[in-house]
Amino acid sequence: MPTDLICPACETTYQAGPNEPWRCQCGRALEFSERPHPEGDPLSLSQLDTSDGLWTFFEFIPIEPHVTFHEGFTPLVDDEEWNAQFKLEYVFPTGSFKDRGATTTLSRAVELGVDKIVEDSSGNAGAAIATYAARAGIEADIYVPAGVKQSKLMTIQRADARPVRVEGSRQDVTDACIDAVESGDGWYASHAWNPAFYAGTMTFAFEVAAQREWTVPDAVVLPVGHGTLLLGAYRGFSLLNEAGIVDEMPRLLGAQAAGHAPIVEAIGGDPAGEDDEGAGDTDIADGIQIELPARKNQIIEAITETGGEVIALGDDPIEAALDRLHRNGFYVEPTSAVAPAALQQYREDGTLAPDDDVVVPLTGSGLKTL
Ligand SMILES: [Zn+2]
Repeated sequence: MPTDLICPACETTYQAGPNEPWRCQCGRALEFSERPHPEGDPLSLSQLDTSDGLWTFFEFIPIEPHVTFHEGFTPLVDDEEWNAQFKLEYVFPTGSFKDRGATTTLSRAVELGVDKIVEDSSGNAGAAIATYAARAGIEADIYVPAGVKQSKLMTIQRADARPVRVEGSRQDVTDACIDAVESGDGWYASHAWNPAFYAGTMTFAFEVAAQREWTVPDAVVLPVGHGTLLLGAYRGFSLLNEAGIVDEMPRLLGAQAAGHAPIVEAIGGDPAGEDDEGAGDTDIADGIQIELPARKNQIIEAITETGGEVIALGDDPIEAALDRLHRNGFYVEPTSAVAPAALQQYREDGTLAPDDDVVVPLTGSGLKTL
């Protein structure tokens, strides 16, 4: 039986089904009523059969694996030059960590008997949802900004999904998509709103812990747009603590793009970027230009609860980090360079000590931005 939905604010519950609401009547994002975790000690990495990828951790996921490409268990590599461990989240079937959420979201759609989904995205999430919808045999409309990169549009079209181009801001794209959902035009497979997506992104934390023989790093530095990976990491590490598998939380250190930094603004930092004069409005990191994150309060809570911080970066440090990554064999897209650029700044301003043990996800492939 698919798990029901509950509102964490007003505690209203909603029965699972193809016509379940996409958010609570009070306006908040919904959560699953079940949060399972296994009992007892986990297997060491050498004993763990990881051939099912992120579904290796099925005991933590309240969804059956109906739609999968055996994605996940991405490499965790030591990088001496950056003095950090990079988790290669661009090594996924559609080239970004969004596949973590797409496999669980479309698996949930199959459980519910959904026949059409809609999603809005600037690129990676749309490509992921479209590809998994194709595997599921579910019709998909993907709302995209009119100026979406051709290569990301191609991924959507090749999956036989219908791209719906919307003029205006990224928020206009979301608004158009929500209008379609409200008029009954499909189940909202939203990477921002749907709890199924976060049931997938939390596997990031399980993999990091397992790959480190069930320890957590001192900190994880992540890019923050809608916070899908940051919240997934927070939920995953929290669940590992609740299960008694680890007994610490890593600090979650966020990285946003200057001029598109609502979390930095909410916490009291400088949303224009503090690193170079007049960073202003940064356009290079198109994957995280989100002005109204659906789960803004949860993102702030995850950062403050773990003793984390969030900063905004301008074009210059992002471009410098991107060049350095490419020279070192990490062929990622510009948005992926925001977190390593932030890592450098956190080290320079003393937020991170030189010997702090840090994991940084590299979130999306550079091949799709050609
Ligand atoms: Zn509510």
